Amino acid sequence: MLKVEKYVPTDREQAFLDSVESPKYDRQIINGLAPFLEEKAPEDVLGFYSTDEVGQLKNLKGTERDVESRMPVKMTRYYFEMAKKSVPLQNLVKASPDETRELAGAEDPGFQMDYSPVEGLLHKYEMGLMYVTSTCSAHCRFCYREELIARKEIVRQDGTIAKKGLAQIPEIANYVRAHNKAVAENGGRHPESGREKLREILLSGGDPLVLTNGKIASWLAALAEAGIESIRIGTKEMAFYPDRFDDSFLSMLDEFHKKYADVGLRLMVHFNHPDEFLAKDDDGNYIEEASGILKWNPSAKRAMEGVVSRGWLCVENQSPIIKGINDDSDALRIMQRAMKRMGAENHYFFCGRDIVAHKAFNVPIETAWNILNESQKGLSGVESHARLSITHYKGKTEVSAVTNEPIPGIPGTENGVVIFKILRNAAAAPDRGKVCIVGRNPDAIWFDGYADRVIFDEAGLFDYARVEATTH
Ligand code: SF4
Repeated sequence: MLKVEKYVPTDREQAFLDSVESPKYDRQIINGLAPFLEEKAPEDVLGFYSTDEVGQLKNLKGTERDVESRMPVKMTRYYFEMAKKSVPLQNLVKASPDETRELAGAEDPGFQMDYSPVEGLLHKYEMGLMYVTSTCSAHCRFCYREELIARKEIVRQDGTIAKKGLAQIPEIANYVRAHNKAVAENGGRHPESGREKLREILLSGGDPLVLTNGKIASWLAALAEAGIESIRIGTKEMAFYPDRFDDSFLSMLDEFHKKYADVGLRLMVHFNHPDEFLAKDDDGNYIEEASGILKWNPSAKRAMEGVVSRGWLCVENQSPIIKGINDDSDALRIMQRAMKRMGAENHYFFCGRDIVAHKAFNVPIETAWNILNESQKGLSGVESHARLSITHYKGKTEVSAVTNEPIPGIPGTENGVVIFKILRNAAAAPDRGKVCIVGRNPDAIWFDGYADRVIFDEAGLFDYARVEATTH
């Protein structure tokens, strides 16, 4: 890769960066299993793992079933306080010996590294995704970025083996400019990859909100200056440490919007379960306001109101459906209704990916569809915008329908069918809207569970071979 010159901010950029305050936050993070295994955690936290669990996790230490080398363990005090009263939240942050019972899965789900033209950037669609950090305030056991967060070495398409690196401003700004220039000079398509303009970037990781306001601001400004039209920030911080959404952070966003009013900002929040934001009484029941509306935790409410009150900032929630955490249609119904009422959209629910040890977390595809479908019964149209998505190697795919009745005269449909539809795929999404119909398999947790029962496949989900990288 060419050596990139030092990045020099423009005057407008510098004026924005000079206005940013970067306070420090004390998240009171309980890091790793050692505080529990060595009994060094604060006394009130120690009981979070039972003696039996501690014994089992100790036995796995240093073996190939070591849960921490699969995915580091971490939680904030704020999340712990909520998790004490919630089994789903415990399942989200607590390491379990069961999670490494079956280690099958992909280190690079979706062959993402095939689409990484610059370290730390994935450029598959018209939107790019950047890894700007490799940690979060707490860690979800089901995380599909476990290879990044655990700093694992993965095999790249050229055969080399290395950890995933983080994006750096000079390299990314250069890439965006060069890509978009080549697209503009070639009539709207990149001459080699056929891609359109790179319009949108998602700041991801890890969680960008673990970075200082100053660092986040540097990214926003550099991307805006490079010509990015819309920037998304993907974060679970509103669940892990909502006080991070304080006045200094909101003022930074306000200032960015003032200086770069044309650039769209989207906050992709990540709530998995209503226990992550609703207040509970001592018996563990949600508290109703006099109006009948369920009461939010004050910190989460302040954070959510802070962002949704900025009309120019879109706030969207998205979440995988995970075994033991939110495979519960009542919980999802409450969450979708509460999100929309507060002003956040319900974007996607996801089927878990085929990450290492995915069998411990993923619910079958048809179960996930049924849970979401049930959860949306009783929601209004605007509350039920979310779709169920599964990320095929080929691109983002919707699980559109699961039927129960045979289709007369069509073999393989005796128990009903599942209909997949491609929502996006690489480059200019040539296959968007194409469907694939398979006979049902209630146990399938990944596409391979349907390989022997494909009925119709104009989408090409089952004759897919890994394509040559088109990332230049
Ligand atoms: S917040 Fe997201 S990136 Fe962080 S551990 Fe959870 S799933 Fe992974």
